[in-house]
Amino acid sequence: MMRAEEDGDDYIVNGSKIWTSGAQGADWIFCLVRTDFDAPKHEGISFLVLDMDTPGVTVTPIELISGASEFCQTFFDDVRVPKRNLIGEPGKGWTVGKRLLQYERSSIGGRGGTRQRQRTIDEWAREYVGEVEGRIADPAIRDAVTAQRIGDDAYQLTIRRSFEEATSSQAPSFLSSMFKLYGTEQNMRRNDLMMEILGSRGLGWSGDDFSGAERGATRGWLRSKANSIEGGTSEIQRNIIAKRVLGLPD
Ligand SMILES: Cc1cc2nc3c(=O)[nH]c(=O)nc-3n(C[C@H](O)[C@H](O)[C@H](O)COP(=O)(O)OP(=O)(O)OC[C@H]3O[C@@H](n4cnc5c(N)ncnc54)[C@H](O)[C@@H]3O)c2cc1C
Repeated sequence: MMRAEEDGDDYIVNGSKIWTSGAQGADWIFCLVRTDFDAPKHEGISFLVLDMDTPGVTVTPIELISGASEFCQTFFDDVRVPKRNLIGEPGKGWTVGKRLLQYERSSIGGRGGTRQRQRTIDEWAREYVGEVEGRIADPAIRDAVTAQRIGDDAYQLTIRRSFEEATSSQAPSFLSSMFKLYGTEQNMRRNDLMMEILGSRGLGWSGDDFSGAERGATRGWLRSKANSIEGGTSEIQRNIIAKRVLGLPD
């Protein structure tokens, strides 16, 4: 748990935050810190931004299954942060955090299903599975590529419609959970299909036996496994959709 205790014009911050994406290169970080220790679970949390160069901040990169190290564990030992760095009211940080998560989920969800990627998977299928009379040779792969393209197109159109419908405000809403869930599932399905298309060429990790693009595809597939976790898990998105979008009871 991250905690911040008042000391004059400052907070003294202690704790650690695991899975801080990009922390090794960041100038600033925002933290949800507990400032009221008696308040109920979602209250008493404050939203603080702090300079990564402040004494007491230590960043330890974590290696992912894909071999990349894009995220870290960040430690905070008696870090002195001015109270003016507080965003919003003390103890109301979860409200700020929830809105921020809607932006994050919109951007993670929006990553899936671009036309460029659809073309890419077609091209990979034609190269690795082969073509017969201008069509992907294997009918099962052809069906899967078509289904992927239909899902991607439907998803892109839904995103466009939702933006056009949001005439009163362009800020994301709880609908961002729907986009996060579907967009990341599309991306994971696309990566699974890519591995099916590549067959044994999708087993490369390092060395010259596999091309850079093949190794990149394998690592990309492993990286996509995080899609259902980062920015809030798929199960949590389903809960939000059920409660906040569909209005179902607890
Ligand atoms: C690549 C990557 C980058 C990340 N970057 C950042 C970052 O920059 N900053 C940051 O703060 N965090 C980051 N995270 C952390 C990420 O936001 C959390 O891992 C994620 O929100 C899940 O929380 P958790 O790990 O505490 O899982 P938990 O909440 O412990 O969940 C464990 C399991 O239980 C299930 N579960 C939990 N509660 C419920 C429920 N009520 N109903 C049904 N199922 C439930 C979950 O779906 C999951 O399967 C990153 C994670 C990844 C994978």
